[in-house]
Amino acid sequence: MNRAEQFIRNVIARGELGHAYLIEAESDAPAFAAARTIARLAQCEKGTGCGQCASCRAFDSGNHPDIITLTHAKEQYGVGEVRAQLVEDILIRPYSFSRKVYLLPEAHKLNAACQNAILKTLEEPPVYGLILLSTGNRNALLPTVLSRLVALNADEEVTDETEAALREAEARWLALLGRIEYADASEMTGLADSMKKDGLSAEDALTVFEKLLRDLYLAKGRVMEGLSYPSEEKKTRERAEALTDGQLARLWTGLDEAKKRLKSNVNASVVLEILCLTFRQIMIDSKEK
Ligand SMILES: [Zn+2]
Repeated sequence: MNRAEQFIRNVIARGELGHAYLIEAESDAPAFAAARTIARLAQCEKGTGCGQCASCRAFDSGNHPDIITLTHAKEQYGVGEVRAQLVEDILIRPYSFSRKVYLLPEAHKLNAACQNAILKTLEEPPVYGLILLSTGNRNALLPTVLSRLVALNADEEVTDETEAALREAEARWLALLGRIEYADASEMTGLADSMKKDGLSAEDALTVFEKLLRDLYLAKGRVMEGLSYPSEEKKTRERAEALTDGQLARLWTGLDEAKKRLKSNVNASVVLEILCLTFRQIMIDSKEK
């Protein structure tokens, strides 16, 4: 099972499925395949992709009325297409199932106008709405769109054991981020190396940071539903209140730069150290207002 599917299975089991996800992979086809699997899971009456229930059977017959795949007539999506197929269509209640799921393949073929057209829908879809963007090239998406999506990687395969070890490593990293303003600078050196021992890659660490940042954006807009880390809600809310919009934007820039550095093969520990120091400084600044 890939990482994205595993993640969704977990949130469904906990009753914490969000409303908008970005499924990423090396190329479009596997990303879309994973998104389809996730749509099937999310609609399954048992939440497991049982293959037996009315929803699974409808999906498997290729004819599910409440799983909609967006299409585009030309090379790119058009604003009219995304309005009609998503923004307006999602306002109509599900036909016969509990959710209405929208698959948006090749999300990099959404130009800036299309991305702006779906922004509000991504932010506040109806309670029954689930939107799954998939792409092999997330670089084409605007930060405003990315900040409203939980990004999941569909390339990596996971087993139950690696998943458990990963959750522990993630929890330790999250704990450090949670007290970053009080952390000793020495704790930030060699971070990637120590994480690697636990099975958490630098990319994973950036994903955790991204989810945390997305939670801050949501909290800033006073949206406390659909947080990636509900257990951190109180702290997230306090931080969001203290942070200015400019400081939040700087955090996002810091994350983007970290990703670029990682791609251009800068040492992973150095990348995470810089990101932590930036985060720490901004959190300290936010308290000094
Ligand atoms: Zn089912």
